[in-house]
Amino acid sequence: MRKIAIVGAGQAGMVLAFGLRDAGYDVTVLETRTPDQIEHGPILSTAMVFDRQLDQERRLGLHEWEGRAPVCNGMHATLRLPNGDVVLEVQGGLDETCQGVDARLKSAAWMRRFEREGGRLVIATVDVPLLESLAETYDLVVVASGKGQLSGLFERDPERCLFDAPARRICALILKGVGEWPEIPYTPLKFHFGMEAGDYFTIPFYSHAGPCRAAVFEPVPGSHLDVWGPEIDTADKALAMAKRVIRDFSPQDWPQYEHAGLVDEKAWLRGAITPTVRKPVARLASGRPVMALGDAAILNDPISGAGANDALRMTERLRKAILQREDRPFTDDWMQEVFEGHYQEHGRHTMRFTRIMTEPITEPAWKLLQAATRSPGVARTFVNAYTDVQQSIRWMTDMEAADEVLGRHAGELQGARFLTRAEAQERFMQRPQAA
Ligand SMILES: Cc1cc2nc3c(=O)[nH]c(=O)nc-3n(C[C@H](O)[C@H](O)[C@H](O)COP(=O)(O)OP(=O)(O)OC[C@H]3O[C@@H](n4cnc5c(N)ncnc54)[C@H](O)[C@@H]3O)c2cc1C
Repeated sequence: MRKIAIVGAGQAGMVLAFGLRDAGYDVTVLETRTPDQIEHGPILSTAMVFDRQLDQERRLGLHEWEGRAPVCNGMHATLRLPNGDVVLEVQGGLDETCQGVDARLKSAAWMRRFEREGGRLVIATVDVPLLESLAETYDLVVVASGKGQLSGLFERDPERCLFDAPARRICALILKGVGEWPEIPYTPLKFHFGMEAGDYFTIPFYSHAGPCRAAVFEPVPGSHLDVWGPEIDTADKALAMAKRVIRDFSPQDWPQYEHAGLVDEKAWLRGAITPTVRKPVARLASGRPVMALGDAAILNDPISGAGANDALRMTERLRKAILQREDRPFTDDWMQEVFEGHYQEHGRHTMRFTRIMTEPITEPAWKLLQAATRSPGVARTFVNAYTDVQQSIRWMTDMEAADEVLGRHAGELQGARFLTRAEAQERFMQRPQAA
């Protein structure tokens, strides 16, 4: 029986562990924290996972929150001026639904179950000497340690990295007591675009307290929305600041959030991410190779809504490749090839999408967004930007592709006139601003 060691009991590590265990492999998972520490510890993410990737969890019997976690089936988006005035408003249904379950619940439940069902779970902080001894004993060592320090073992790939610093500051909170929007015919992702200052969005979510809502603030550093400096160092301050931003920047939503609280004291995080593509193979001093998976290989900003989804896509590719490898050795070249398949099909597009999403809106996307306010057909394309990023990149960067989308809905757009970004900037920014 082939022996596989997986470092990290997160989204990618645990799904790979169950997938290989069910296929008859001898799997060991090594994780820094115990299930109790994870369950009651700080949040590391508020990820939404799309239905096709959730199917991976379903097939392994891991989606324990089905029927309890709310299903996000639409998006409502506003483009706002600094004083909170709404410039544009768009809504539509998602072609592929998604669900967000607190990763603390997922990892803790999956680790307990893995052990209960006979899997080997080792609580240890893996470092290079421990990796060396794992590589000696196991046929394959996969490092799925997320954005933690160990990923530094894998060299940054400068030719593939589109960022050398964080484009956004990040603050995320999981909130209970948020009201609903009966006038919106969906369980919506609510997205608030701030003109060139960054964005914030809230998503239906599931955590310790049951159904709830996660909020992610993504200001451009130095902008008027960048209020998440180091002075925000307690749960109370984070909650108070989140409510202040919501009240001032999206006052129409204030009634829904007025009575919101954190689901627990640790349900918030603050930080920044430099999206990074790494070389997928690290050679240890012994010459033995180890392979990166998930965020350890490709790290994105949450604005792309893709880290966990791509981690799951890469996990599935790796699982299949391991099975196809049968008894042959897991060589350096084989690891490169598996990663390259993922990078070419998904990783590079996601990174480009992240770049576009963190920059000021492009001219084609701006035109499409204006059209989306009049045409439900165009709105559907806009709100589904996250489901097929490769397709979305086309209408976000190429005016012909954007016009092609508009052409398909010409009947809904008769008489429509569109402003360029410069015209819009001039018109809207002349409005009186709040002090
Ligand atoms: C605020 C926020 C919102 C997000 N929203 C989305 C979203 O909507 N959609 C989406 O697709 N993605 C989203 N992401 C990204 C997503 O959370 C990650 O891409 C995903 O969790 C990556 O999974 P992973 O298994 O690679 O790493 P993780 O899930 O981070 O797991 C890594 C595990 O490794 C363990 N570990 C670390 N170092 C060691 C070590 N040395 N030894 C042993 N164990 C170790 C950690 O404790 C952890 O349990 C978001 C991220 C953030 C920060």
